[in-house]
Amino acid sequence: MGKIIAFSNQKGGVGKTTTAINLAAYVALAGKKVLLVDFDPQGNATSGYGIEKNTLNATVYDALMGDSSVRDVVLKTVIDNLWILPSNSDLAGAEVDLVSIPARESALKRALSGIKNDFDYIFIDCPPSLGLLTLNAMVACDSVIIPIQSEFFALEGVTQLLNTFKIVKQRLNPKIEINGVVLTMYDMRTTLSKQVTAEIYKYFSNKIYTVPVPRNIKLVESPSFGVPVVLHAPRSNGALAYQALAKQFLEREERANG
Ligand code: ADP
Ligand code: MG
Repeated sequence: MGKIIAFSNQKGGVGKTTTAINLAAYVALAGKKVLLVDFDPQGNATSGYGIEKNTLNATVYDALMGDSSVRDVVLKTVIDNLWILPSNSDLAGAEVDLVSIPARESALKRALSGIKNDFDYIFIDCPPSLGLLTLNAMVACDSVIIPIQSEFFALEGVTQLLNTFKIVKQRLNPKIEINGVVLTMYDMRTTLSKQVTAEIYKYFSNKIYTVPVPRNIKLVESPSFGVPVVLHAPRSNGALAYQALAKQFLEREERANG
């Protein structure tokens, strides 16, 4: 029990945080207990849940460095069954501060070990880099979800990500798997989206979630209201896509668990 899934792609602006925020909401609404770990110093998942990130007493940074227990840092969100481990710019120091810690790449895994079984799912929203933070997420997790923006150069960088994944699997976390690929900001009308999708299919075939997330303004607006899209515009195309994605995610989980 207690599956940890990292949302990773070292490219910024591809929809990692939007996907983590909204998938977490719908999976929690389906009755699963979910913890969303904001693992980006930008703290977008934190502010996206209406949490004032600059007034926090403790953040994921303190849990990571072993100065606080995760239990003391976790906050409730506006969604039942969903908690968040918040982040802010303090986390930017971790890349440097972790260096003096033994087994620095396992700090997040250690921090989460005590609460792992309190949740059905722990989603980690990774920063846009392949540095020590992302490495920690990959060591801590059971699997990775890769959001890919359906645009030109979409696969640029993905090879690097897969390379890091392979190294982690060989040396640090042999059980790690690719959970799936989510196509974000998809535009049905353009042949470009279709071409890029064909390319991505060649690469990831059956790992791809068949529900693409369309470009939708409601997904952009909802963080400014401090809520996931389900509380802002539940009938919007963006909301319906993430709802369908959550359904497919949970169906795959059920199949995997027999
Ligand atoms: P990342 O976490 O990978 O940096 P974000 O989730 O923060 O990416 O998304 C980057 C920007 O794109 C944000 O402004 C976000 O609101 C916007 N965005 C994400 N997904 C969509 C979408 N499906 N439609 C329109 N805008 C989106
Ligand atoms: Mg982000």
